[in-house]
Amino acid sequence: MVILRDTMIISGKELSAKLKAGMAEQVAAFPEKYGRVPHLVVILVGDDPASVSYVTGKAKASETVGIRNTTIRKSADIAESELLDLIRQLNDDDTVDGILVQLPLPEHISEARVIETISKAKDVDGFHPLNVAALWQKHPCVLPCTPKGIIKMLKAAGVEIKGKRAVVIGRSNIVGLPVAKLLLDENATVTIAHSKTVDLPAVTRQAEILVVAIGRPKFVTADMVSEGAVVIDVGVNRDPVTGKLCGDVDFAAIEPKASVITPVPGGVGPMTICCLMENAIECFLKKMER
Ligand code: NAP
Repeated sequence: MVILRDTMIISGKELSAKLKAGMAEQVAAFPEKYGRVPHLVVILVGDDPASVSYVTGKAKASETVGIRNTTIRKSADIAESELLDLIRQLNDDDTVDGILVQLPLPEHISEARVIETISKAKDVDGFHPLNVAALWQKHPCVLPCTPKGIIKMLKAAGVEIKGKRAVVIGRSNIVGLPVAKLLLDENATVTIAHSKTVDLPAVTRQAEILVVAIGRPKFVTADMVSEGAVVIDVGVNRDPVTGKLCGDVDFAAIEPKASVITPVPGGVGPMTICCLMENAIECFLKKMER
């Protein structure tokens, strides 16, 4: 049987540009209304090239949206206590609305302690345990950027989530678990797969919506995806052969089978930064409207 289908490739780049333009209009009215614009502080420890590139992207997006961005760079050998003190100072600084510490951190620094130290009200990443708990209890909270961006992409593509069988590969606190929770909140029936899942292809072939967040280049092959599935690729990897950026999904092989798919680069990544901007505005407005 030959199934002819036009696959929709969701451009996170285009969608995020549109959303950021809307935010720029919103932020332009803030000086008159609130006396200033939102202020996001990003802390970068060390000089890992990927982290430098992410932090630069965040500064660029802030500029586009009209948010004030301060990037604080610290050397990789900064003591944990010094970093925590800096975060506490920023927590107490009334001119700062959002704080983000770029992950990963050097091994001698506890990521958990850093995340816990950021005030919940300034936690633009949505990683603070109180934000995570609020998410799982369906209380108001800052939603983590990547999962939030994924739901926005699905909705913008007109994908009906309610009632669908969704499979999420990956169960990290940053991506897999919160994506699964947000899909559940949209009334999908969700399965979470991981490295101990037995016969993963049999599980993923059940998916009407497949979200992949593993961190292994082109791990998901065409035989793992059912005809017409919606495929969201979160992975950011280097292709071992070409050295170019690629996702967790073998895009060329799966694109003809999927009804909707996200590319890497230009898919989930830009939406993550876009949602960070949205979260910074949200934290600012919560403070201003208190
Ligand atoms: P992570 O913390 O390393 O988690 C990886 C997950 O994949 C784990 O749950 C692991 O299972 C699972 N896994 C590993 N090998 C597997 C296998 N063979 N079969 C099934 N599951 C397997 O990674 P992460 O932070 O969630 O990030 C995942 C990917 O997304 C990375 O490439 C990262 O760079 C990317 N990312 C992209 C964005 C973006 O904005 N585009 C944002 C964040 C992350 P276990 O739990 O059993 O170990």
